Amino acid sequence: MEKYISPILENIRNANYEAELLLISNHALDYIKGIDKRSVYPERKDIEALSNFDKKLAKEPALNKEIINLLVDYGSKGTVAQTGSRYFGFVTGGLLPSALYGRLIADIWDQNSAMYISSPTVAKIEEVCEKWLVELFSFPQDTAAGFVSGSASAMLCALTTGRNFLLNRLGWDVNKKGLFGAPDIKVVVGEGAHSTVWKALSIIGFGSDLVIKVPMDSEGRIRVDLMPKLDSRTMIILQAGNVNTGAFDCFEKVCSIAKEAGAWVHIDGAFGLWAQVNPEMAKLTKGIELADSWNFDAHKTLNAPYDSGVVMCKDRSALLNAMQMSGDYIVAGANRDGMFYTHEMSRRARVIDIWAALMGLGSLGVAEMVQELHIKARYFAEGLSAEGFEILNEVVFNQVLVYYKEDKLTLELMKQLQSSGVMWVGGSTWQGKRVIRISVSSYRITYNDIDICIKEFVKQVVNL
Ligand SMILES: *Cc1c(COP(=O)(O)O)cnc(C)c1O
Repeated sequence: MEKYISPILENIRNANYEAELLLISNHALDYIKGIDKRSVYPERKDIEALSNFDKKLAKEPALNKEIINLLVDYGSKGTVAQTGSRYFGFVTGGLLPSALYGRLIADIWDQNSAMYISSPTVAKIEEVCEKWLVELFSFPQDTAAGFVSGSASAMLCALTTGRNFLLNRLGWDVNKKGLFGAPDIKVVVGEGAHSTVWKALSIIGFGSDLVIKVPMDSEGRIRVDLMPKLDSRTMIILQAGNVNTGAFDCFEKVCSIAKEAGAWVHIDGAFGLWAQVNPEMAKLTKGIELADSWNFDAHKTLNAPYDSGVVMCKDRSALLNAMQMSGDYIVAGANRDGMFYTHEMSRRARVIDIWAALMGLGSLGVAEMVQELHIKARYFAEGLSAEGFEILNEVVFNQVLVYYKEDKLTLELMKQLQSSGVMWVGGSTWQGKRVIRISVSSYRITYNDIDICIKEFVKQVVNL
């Protein structure tokens, strides 16, 4: 048989790793060191220069050097300085050095973390991280964790698990019988729930008309007095950290009612679950360990890189049963196959980022970071308030809602701040008002940065 060798691949096999990795490490240093000297949002000319990517895929391969240079010269300039110290958009965590290093090494290894057999290292680190997280959050022993791309995915896994658990208890095995003809399940959600709650619910078969919405109070917490009667066919979804106000639902009360009724409680703790690791802040999360499942992001409060979320479930077998791949397969034996804890199979080894972030902080560092983010959010709010801006929420965690006189002026102010290059803040709508939303989520933000930003608010108001 004639052996075929692609000349292109032959060339690729001879990559000049020494020179090319050096190019990348030089870029990494320039980017990281320069991040606070550049405009936080890319300038118009840099966005326009992204047209350099508008090329037809060439027939001939590009040199690695050329690929790297295109990314460095044009790609990097069109990025948003989210890893810098004056980005307050959405709920965007910074990038801890330890977590970045973990990620880079994991990417060099390029492991498939589906199974123990495909990567003993990743299976081990998943096992260790699961234990660490259970301890950090003071969750019941044997709580399981699955590592996914973010809270939207984690929620999908958790709500599927809750749905299947409740149906199983009614004698309906979803894995065998599917959903057509299944008994009714009641879903209860606070009106302030994150949009990904609705997304997950609709994917798993609960359209918005089927969901009972409970009104929220002035801070976005579920109104316990207006909750419908819960029963053993109910799944209720609470939230640790309203995406606008940062408010926490009253877990202790709702969980005790729900437990009494035999309902399944899920808590969306995308960024707020971390309050639980700080003894002073844990008053916000009181009773959170009474729930059945939780989701959170590592790429928010923990400051691990994107994309990193975790689903946690008190009943390990319920999660495994819902995420199974065939029959009623339950993982037996000593080794962990990560794919049975999530809806995915092949995955990058994202758990290494989380492990490295936790190693780099220690449990003390995690607790201190949560506290710092909170105090800095309050510092920001007080500074703005002293300058005449209205703060619309109680700053219980890391989110601050700012209003200036009227919707139109607030919106205009937000746009000016966004194009100032000094900082970046996003907008939202809260209780019918257009607001500026500040999220203090990065370890990089200093008090000095906040002072600079407050000055910028004052400066931009003059231009309104
Ligand atoms: C960010 C967020 C989500 C969605 O998380 P992703 O990581 O973007 O999937 C869900 N709920 C809340 C409260 C959030 O802040």
